[in-house]
Amino acid sequence: MKNIAELMKDRVVLGDGGYLIELERRGYVDSGSGREKVGTGRGSGQFTPEVAIENPDALRELHREFLNAGSRVLQALTFFGTREKLNRAGYGSETEKINATAVKLAREVAKDQALVAGSVSRTQLIEREGAESLGKARDHIAEQIRLLKDAGVDFLILETFFHLSEMKVALECAAEAKLPAVATMSFRPLVEKCTDGHTPAECSRVMADLGAVAVGANCEQEPGRMLPLLRQMRAAVKVPIAAQPAAFRTSDDCHSFTRMKAFPDELETIQVSRSEFVEFGRRAKEEGIGFAGGCCGCNAAYIKAIARGLGH
Ligand SMILES: [Zn+2]
Repeated sequence: MKNIAELMKDRVVLGDGGYLIELERRGYVDSGSGREKVGTGRGSGQFTPEVAIENPDALRELHREFLNAGSRVLQALTFFGTREKLNRAGYGSETEKINATAVKLAREVAKDQALVAGSVSRTQLIEREGAESLGKARDHIAEQIRLLKDAGVDFLILETFFHLSEMKVALECAAEAKLPAVATMSFRPLVEKCTDGHTPAECSRVMADLGAVAVGANCEQEPGRMLPLLRQMRAAVKVPIAAQPAAFRTSDDCHSFTRMKAFPDELETIQVSRSEFVEFGRRAKEEGIGFAGGCCGCNAAYIKAIARGLGH
């Protein structure tokens, strides 16, 4: 099968959807809301991916649903899979097993029909301990990327980073591991700047300069609110744009669903319909996006909707 950069040259690559929120709805992931205040970005053991070893059939089934919906990339459920984050959920000693099993499950389903991406996200150390913890974050991210490489991922999706400083570290670790990386920031509380104060255009330039094969945004906003920031990125770089919007409605005052009152226990009240993702697919094709998928709130019906918009 072609690699991710080659696939994006042929046509828009359809990604998959959001695993953790969907598996939380199905009863296999803990949102943490029963134990602590969720949505501050400092969360401890919330939304961790131990489902890979605790309920592998549930994860395998969701991979199948996305593949069946047309996804050409399956993301191993390794989001929040650094030892730092897993420690907080009591699974630190299973870090190797969780990452390896997640990749194995995705590969079993993907066979030769889809690429397998390792998902790597922020550690939450910067939010919790400040910018001086960046070195510690680097060690944790480097460790996870090594585990993903050993498990045989085709490439990495570095996603849901709030701070450009931490994304830079992740891109450096990906380059050291010689793995291609799609890099997407999450913008909150507003889309104008990321948490450490960089515009979408600045973020995209920095990520492209550090070797990302595609740059863009994921999570936090519905397609309509994310598209303008993607256009700013499009204008700033030559590499393909990647986009994985969330399926939750944000407001003019708050552009991030994880800061809305409905997060995480009343998300059903701000769910956007799949028809917005048909439109997103249409826009992605018209506006030259290279990689289009869904994030939180997107199940297989939403991926089918993007596929319809793309004309796949
Ligand atoms: Zn998300």
